[in-house]
Amino acid sequence: MMTPRTRRLSISTLVGALVGISVAIAGVYVTRSSHERHTDLHEMLHEAVPLDANEREILELKEEAFAQRRREIEMRLRAANGKLANAIARNPNWSPEVEAATQEVERAAGDLQRATLVHVFEMRAGLKPEHRPAYDRVLVDALRRGSQ
Ligand SMILES: [Zn+2]
Repeated sequence: MMTPRTRRLSISTLVGALVGISVAIAGVYVTRSSHERHTDLHEMLHEAVPLDANEREILELKEEAFAQRRREIEMRLRAANGKLANAIARNPNWSPEVEAATQEVERAAGDLQRATLVHVFEMRAGLKPEHRPAYDRVLVDALRRGSQ
């Protein structure tokens, strides 16, 4: 039998691991270097291929719309993670509540991934044609590294 203290600890460890997993899925995080530093694909593309003034102007509204959509999905993701944590705290077993909360986390994570990729292509469309090859290289390399 676990003491209440070890039981609390193991639950919080489990919840921490689950939240970590869902956050990693959600941000379309990619491995950036041999140091295994994970970074957000969207941020990384902005850093790697900085927009010039003209491109920034073209993309301004889309950047704002994406930031808003992302905030909404991240809120859903946090709420779903909270439900998952509560369900596990109540009953640290695979239960219908854990299943339901897990599905919510997955849906939000999937939506965030999709929204990020949609925006990644919006950004590409707003780039000058001569800036696209560099952008494509960074994008494909990042996704390939993430798939290894
Ligand atoms: Zn962007």
